[in-house]
Amino acid sequence: MSLINDWRDTAYSPTANKGDLQRLWQDYFLKEKAIYAELLKDPDTEVKGTVSELAEKYGVTIMYMTGFLDGINDSLKTANDIEEMTEDTEVSLGFDKEKLFRNMVDAKADWLYGLPEWDDIYSKEEQEELIKDQKKSHTFVREGRKIGRNEPCPCGSGKKYKNCHGQA
Ligand SMILES: [Zn+2]
Repeated sequence: MSLINDWRDTAYSPTANKGDLQRLWQDYFLKEKAIYAELLKDPDTEVKGTVSELAEKYGVTIMYMTGFLDGINDSLKTANDIEEMTEDTEVSLGFDKEKLFRNMVDAKADWLYGLPEWDDIYSKEEQEELIKDQKKSHTFVREGRKIGRNEPCPCGSGKKYKNCHGQA
């Protein structure tokens, strides 16, 4: 099985134990946030390597790295061929800053577009402008997983989603 199918079958499994899935996603979201923070510290350097090299670089499993590559693919300058990807495939994390920011807004992931690392890339005014503009356009919605209201918030606060970023 390809890496990407392996990841999707696990992370989006309709039959898996709910608690297990919840723990997987909570853990994944924290790792995802840490990788984005790392990438945004040096946004103009293209990070490249094989899937296994990048997993090692960021201290995550091959499966999480696969999930990360799946999530970031639409924000890259050149998308990776994630459907055919193996551990030894060379991939690039060279992202388009504006696309990435907009996609994070679309995903309603304010723990990601609110990362302090963005402040060195865009002024607060520019961020506000992008957020407003993107919320208006709704041209693209990333396929994502719905977070349950009673699940832990993906931002890592330890609070339930409904009491944190899931508040209406
Ligand atoms: Zn939160």
